[in-house]
Amino acid sequence: MSDFVYSQKPIQIESGDGLTLTDTAGNEYLDFGASYACVPLGHGHGGVESAAAEQLSALTYVQASYPVAIREQLYETLAGAAPAGIENVWLCSSGTEAVEAALKFARAATGSEKIVSTMQAFHGRTMGALSTTWKSKYKEPYEPLVPGVEFVPYNDSEALAEAVDDDTAGVILEPIQGEGGINPATTDFLETAREATTDANAALICDEIQTGLGRTGELWACERAGVVPDMVTSAKGLANGLPIGATLCQDWIAEGYGDHASTFGGNPVVAAAAEATVSTLQEEAVPAHAAEMGASLREALERELGDSVRDIRGDGLMVGIELKSSAGAVARELAMSHGVLVLTAGRTVVRLLPPLVATEAEIDRAVDALGAVIG
Ligand SMILES: *Cc1c(COP(=O)(O)O)cnc(C)c1O
Repeated sequence: MSDFVYSQKPIQIESGDGLTLTDTAGNEYLDFGASYACVPLGHGHGGVESAAAEQLSALTYVQASYPVAIREQLYETLAGAAPAGIENVWLCSSGTEAVEAALKFARAATGSEKIVSTMQAFHGRTMGALSTTWKSKYKEPYEPLVPGVEFVPYNDSEALAEAVDDDTAGVILEPIQGEGGINPATTDFLETAREATTDANAALICDEIQTGLGRTGELWACERAGVVPDMVTSAKGLANGLPIGATLCQDWIAEGYGDHASTFGGNPVVAAAAEATVSTLQEEAVPAHAAEMGASLREALERELGDSVRDIRGDGLMVGIELKSSAGAVARELAMSHGVLVLTAGRTVVRLLPPLVATEAEIDRAVDALGAVIG
């Protein structure tokens, strides 16, 4: 085996179109995890592909110190798309780098050290981001990690308020924990995070790498709760499948960010794909479609699965089904016998993150398959 990190799935995918993936034997699969939320507009989106292809021929790369029109345009689009009050954009190539930057910016802008994170959080796998990630399996072999991180129970407002003090640089949290099992934050928890960080002159970082870009019905899940953080991290689906990360921040963070850079951040080809992705999401009102489809997905799941599962939770097209048995076994059965690809989150949660352009018919197909395997 040439790669010792990724376990080989017994399906070789050759092409993709919308929610449909086709393997080398011609079998079709419904990608109901959007390949980890990386293709919000579906596979093979024509507008994104042609934007990237045109930029590839015009200029693949030039060092970031020279302004390039498409990157300038993306800065403007992202600043416009960010929650009100957030106008600065820093670009990189992955989610973990976007988190890494946010942690560094929080320390530089505040002069403080402590980072408060949440139990079950997932924020990435480079040393800084990993230090704010909860699962010990991901961390133990690489210790010692970055010091100064304290974890509080997710949705425990009291513990959070107590943990944030004058030495706190920032609080980092996912508005809905993805990898941790699709756990939505209460509005009270998000409001407490906002108040406590404001009082302590610390930064509130919302990691929207999985929840963002319209998945929950608004471009950013924090907007659902009416909370404006100091920084938002984005990645995964931001360029509909090309590698990108972004750290969006308020002025006071951008003014004190220190010295940080990434060679490929804002790469013109990737910027063209991201610009096409974000403007399509906005122009075609994709978040509203995701809200509508998400509501009918959850309703159909309740009807179809009912008492045979422990819980169905989430928002928009970010849905977790907590099973009474192994989620891995269900995911395998769905793929092999029904051609439906889903994700898991921990041992017992089936995680659904379909492309946001999913149709009613595609949702029905996934629900039928889930009903046949679980119900
Ligand atoms: C996937 C993910 C990350 C890490 O992104 P990478 O691009 O894999 O580094 C960080 N935070 C959240 C919430 C994620 O879902």
